[in-house]
Amino acid sequence: MQSVLMGLRLTGAHVLKARHSKTSTDITSSDYFRSQTGIATIQFPHEMIPVPDTGRYQLHNEMDDCIVCDKCAKICPVNCITIEPIRSAEEFGKTSDGTSKRIYAATFDIDMGKCCFCGLCTTVCPTECLTMTKTYDFSVTDIQQHNFPFANLSSAEIEEKKAAWDRHQESKANAPVPAPLTSPKPGFKPRIKPPGEPNT
Ligand code: SF4
Ligand code: SF4
Repeated sequence: MQSVLMGLRLTGAHVLKARHSKTSTDITSSDYFRSQTGIATIQFPHEMIPVPDTGRYQLHNEMDDCIVCDKCAKICPVNCITIEPIRSAEEFGKTSDGTSKRIYAATFDIDMGKCCFCGLCTTVCPTECLTMTKTYDFSVTDIQQHNFPFANLSSAEIEEKKAAWDRHQESKANAPVPAPLTSPKPGFKPRIKPPGEPNT
């Protein structure tokens, strides 16, 4: 009988506390681990739990600041970043931190369906254009939609940039070969300074 009463008292206490929702606490708060009362579930997606600034969620690439260096793709442990570069003969712009831009991206895809959210790609990015955002809800009905394209060139622009690079390569290949360095005159003997003689 006593245990039944204890159970009813516990249930009643929870029912009374369930009149309000738990409040979310910032992870840096000293109260973070303090026990909270109230309903733990939320009316998602109308309500969303705030995420910490250091959270690792969906990746975003600010293409205007990307120099297409390929470092992010090389370090990715699961190969979910696909980049197709197009080189340019000349600098065509600068990023917001002043880095020279010389490579266009025909393709810059990140497959979030493969991503393990390790964050390595963001740490090697030299211009800090690749960041992990606070967006954690990107549920889709087709797994292909988890492949996020960031390149912003049209098909015509891609063809034009590729043709310009091919023309540049061709003109380099057809450039006249510079004359070889002239050889010393017959009989020329270089003077070797004896040891100890001061420089003149
Ligand atoms: S977070 Fe990790 S797994 Fe995801 S794209 Fe970057 S390096 Fe690859
Ligand atoms: S590391 Fe950064 S700058 Fe380099 S290709 Fe990746 S996103 Fe672009």
